[in-house]
Amino acid sequence: VKRTGKSNYQFYSASIHNRIIGNFELESLLRKAMDRNEFSLYYQPQIDTNSNKIYGAEALLRWHSRELGLISPNEFIPVAEETGLIVPIGEWVMKEACRQNKEWHDRHFPKFPVSINLSIRQLYQTDLVERLNKIIQESGLDPKYLELEITESMTMDTETTSLILCQLKKSGVKISMDDFGTGYSSLNNLKKFPIDYLKIDQSFIKDIAVNDDDRDIVATIIMLAHNLKIKTIAEGVETSEHVQFLKSQDCNVLQGYHFSKPLPAKDFEKWLINWNK
Ligand code: C2E
Ligand code: CA
Ligand code: CA
Ligand code: CA
Repeated sequence: VKRTGKSNYQFYSASIHNRIIGNFELESLLRKAMDRNEFSLYYQPQIDTNSNKIYGAEALLRWHSRELGLISPNEFIPVAEETGLIVPIGEWVMKEACRQNKEWHDRHFPKFPVSINLSIRQLYQTDLVERLNKIIQESGLDPKYLELEITESMTMDTETTSLILCQLKKSGVKISMDDFGTGYSSLNNLKKFPIDYLKIDQSFIKDIAVNDDDRDIVATIIMLAHNLKIKTIAEGVETSEHVQFLKSQDCNVLQGYHFSKPLPAKDFEKWLINWNK
């Protein structure tokens, strides 16, 4: 998505039509997407560094648009945030992730938390905690198997956010700080927020095999997190060199293409059965 002016998007889609569509058309397609069941969640495994077993899974939103084909969240999430559509879409994500994880429990898969991405707009919704509690209750999922990933942003107020996060923690869910080290990451937030996990952004992991500085940064983030009793998750783990280094630094959890790309639920189940063999 290319932003041209205040709320004017030029949308480039990789569909067969390869056309540029406007913000208005994209917005109306996004509105229809929900009714037409065009959204789905893909799941990417997270691996426990010590046991090599599954530690959790991140649910990532996919939009299979009838008109545009498969569209990346990087393209439609910003539009959904701008238009407020992220609230109903995000609510669907919460419901679907809880439903799916409960289904896996009922079918006797090994139990692990599923994490979902929460946009700042959702986080600042006045009734978020009530809505989330209702969704959890209706799904029957034990809330300790739900994790919320939040990304720091410019518009984030430390006091307000830590209050909301504390309320969310009372619901029994876990909190992760996503994309740590990029954008607006602040050490103050790290100290003030009740977070369980820190996700080291993939941009730092990418070059650890060749770049001393990135190695030092990653090692330091892990040390810092552990001193604050926060567990670390590395994103974008693509090679065995990455695995080796992150293990040597006691990073707790690894996520990336080295293990699996995000998969539709059915394929994720197959991956899981194979992994546990
Ligand atoms: P994210 O939360 O940082 O998610 C990680 C992204 O990295 C995912 O892209 C994932 O497919 C990709 N990835 C995983 N392993 C690797 C790897 O080894 N190498 C590389 N190069 N990439 C890897 P995806 O699924 O396209 O999602 C992009 C972003 O869209 C997410 O970044 C997140 O910020 C946002 N997003 C996705 N689903 C949701 C959602 O349900 N709600 C909200 N608010 N945002 C979402
Ligand atoms: Ca994430
Ligand atoms: Ca991330
Ligand atoms: Ca992100």
